Amino acid sequence: MRLQKPPLRGKKTSASFSFFLRCIIFFLPLVSCSRSAGGRAVPPHTFVALGTVCSVNLYEDGTEALYRRITERLQQIEGAFSVNLPSSEISAVNRMAGIAPVPVSAEVLAVLEAALAVAEKSGGAFNPAVGPLVALWGVGTETPAVPDADAIQALLPLVDYRKIQRDGAAVFLTEAGMQLDFGGIAKGYAADEAVRVAVDAGVRRALVDLGGNIYVYGKKADGTAWRVGVKNPENAGADLALQVELASGTVVTSGRYERFFEQDGIRYHHIIDPATGYPAERGVLSATVVGQSSLLADALSTAAFVLGKEKGLALLQNEYPDMDALILTADHTAAGTPRIRQTATLLRNAYGWE
Ligand code: FAD
Ligand code: MG
Repeated sequence: MRLQKPPLRGKKTSASFSFFLRCIIFFLPLVSCSRSAGGRAVPPHTFVALGTVCSVNLYEDGTEALYRRITERLQQIEGAFSVNLPSSEISAVNRMAGIAPVPVSAEVLAVLEAALAVAEKSGGAFNPAVGPLVALWGVGTETPAVPDADAIQALLPLVDYRKIQRDGAAVFLTEAGMQLDFGGIAKGYAADEAVRVAVDAGVRRALVDLGGNIYVYGKKADGTAWRVGVKNPENAGADLALQVELASGTVVTSGRYERFFEQDGIRYHHIIDPATGYPAERGVLSATVVGQSSLLADALSTAAFVLGKEKGLALLQNEYPDMDALILTADHTAAGTPRIRQTATLLRNAYGWE
């Protein structure tokens, strides 16, 4: 197992690192209880990448070489997309904001196009240009603080995904101070890629967990469905609110409990409403999206969180009918797209179906 420490953002991140570890230990029994009885060539691997704890289980087809290939692929994606690494492609684009276009790789361009498509369809609720606000709030850094209202207002014109230009394989942020941030989509892309590498190598079943971005692939040995737990947003370190059954696919959740700080008794979390510049507060505790593309599920769970229950579910139903969503709200109801009622089970009395 290779344990690589990422360039952590600060104290809060160390706390969330141990938090993630606890969550993984907590999460795994749900999925491991139905593992193949045939044994595995190599035990599952757990390592740090993309600023979070990643866990990959290739079951009986896992080899050291294949685990290494997947780990390296995730590190490569982090190397291209991280805003924390000055050497990344995204950092290069951000540095040249208002100055010049920057050539990027085909995969960065593809993820950007996908992000812009979700931005368009969600009316900018998901917004890959949110970087300046993410940096201003500093949630997850050592010094998060509620910014001045004026400072937030001043940044809003920069948080405009329509000002991102593409010219062939080059990306241009047309105003100085603009910044891309793929924190709400790149983990999903990475989960898709981890599964793709495994499938290309002939793996029959796999579980990929990138800090809560879950992908379960293939048929389980005993033929039963996978069951993926979703944390109780009000007690995320110790409790599941629901489980989702699926044959094969991804389950991604955005929650107000993942990264936050408190000031004057008020919680400020890391999912920003680009329309206001403040952490999104539309009564959503967590938004879960289920489907086949983890990239889309990642972006859409963030979008649904920002949009709130009605608009978030409408986005899924109207624009992404192959995917499902389940939203837990502050009034302790669970609301979802129609199919999710058949596949999701609420595990606690705390939440009731709407
Ligand atoms: P999601 O809801 O999926 O996304 C929230 C994140 O997306 C926010 O943290 C912000 O980055 C961004 N965002 C906020 N509002 C919006 C919006 N309206 N539209 C679009 N995006 C929005 N963490 C570290 O502590 N240190 C690291 O070095 C580090 N490196 C990373 C490198 C990569 C390539 C990636 C993908 C993530 C990295 N992270 C790192 C983690 C990252 O900062 C976020 O915490 C994480 O991606 C949030 O995921 P989530 O599932 O909790 O929330
Ligand atoms: Mg997301």
